[in-house]
Amino acid sequence: MPATDPDCLFCKIIAGEIPSTIVDSDDRTLAFMDINPATRGHALVVPRNHSADLLSVDPEDLAATAVAAQRLAGTAKEALGADGVNLLNCCGEVAWQTVFHFHMHVIPRYTDDAVRLPWIPAPGDTDEISAAGQQIKEQS
Ligand code: AMP
Ligand code: ZN
Repeated sequence: MPATDPDCLFCKIIAGEIPSTIVDSDDRTLAFMDINPATRGHALVVPRNHSADLLSVDPEDLAATAVAAQRLAGTAKEALGADGVNLLNCCGEVAWQTVFHFHMHVIPRYTDDAVRLPWIPAPGDTDEISAAGQQIKEQS
């Protein structure tokens, strides 16, 4: 039996208690269509075991989710004629996470679709980039 949270929306979808359009499934993961699609074919891959987010998901569930997302990206491209795919994970409210059951968005991309990068790429201060990198390295 997978680890579940009785108050979790995605656990209820996994249990079949809330309807969803399931598009892929394996021992560890389930994939279903997002009800607020960014583009045509936008789906979510979730591990069957409940965990809140990227930082708490079991590494084997994370790996299985990544593999399922890769599979779905290929299928979506074939089935829908997408020109590319974005994988997206949001970890934490500040990073746009709204459902606290770890999941990966699989967003098919089409030439001239409406999706845009949420930041404007611009060269950063090289000393500050190095300082941030140093802080990360010292912690790992
Ligand atoms: P996030 O904001 O990264 O936590 O993603 C949560 C996603 O779940 C959003 O894109 C929602 O549109 C989607 N969502 C919420 N409720 C449902 C539902 N009942 N079935 C399918 N997708 C859902
Ligand atoms: Zn859950």
